[in-house]
Amino acid sequence: MRILLVDDSSTMRRIQKTQLNNLGVTDIFEAGNGEEGLEILANTTALDYILLDWNMPVMDGITFLKKVRGNGAYAGIKIIMCTSESEKTRVIEALKSGANDYIIKPFTPDAIKEKLKL
Ligand SMILES: [Mg+2]
Repeated sequence: MRILLVDDSSTMRRIQKTQLNNLGVTDIFEAGNGEEGLEILANTTALDYILLDWNMPVMDGITFLKKVRGNGAYAGIKIIMCTSESEKTRVIEALKSGANDYIIKPFTPDAIKEKLKL
């Protein structure tokens, strides 16, 4: 399984990476904002999942989400919003924009495990 982490917090990415490593996932790519995420997408094949933060500088998660879903080449990649934006309207906006699922921070390793079906 190949996963791209998009989050401006390097601490959060480290936590997610450790949790994923513990679940046996080692093919992990990291981006600090949506723009970096798009660059990695363009240069990486066969990604299965993107764990996507909402609030980031340069390009935020919802903008990134809409751009990725606007490109049919990426249709097979599942995108899970991973954010502290827990308001219902936000969740609905993300799902309407093409997110496959939603995890509210702070989350447990079990939540990641369940959402990624590991
Ligand atoms: Mg953030």
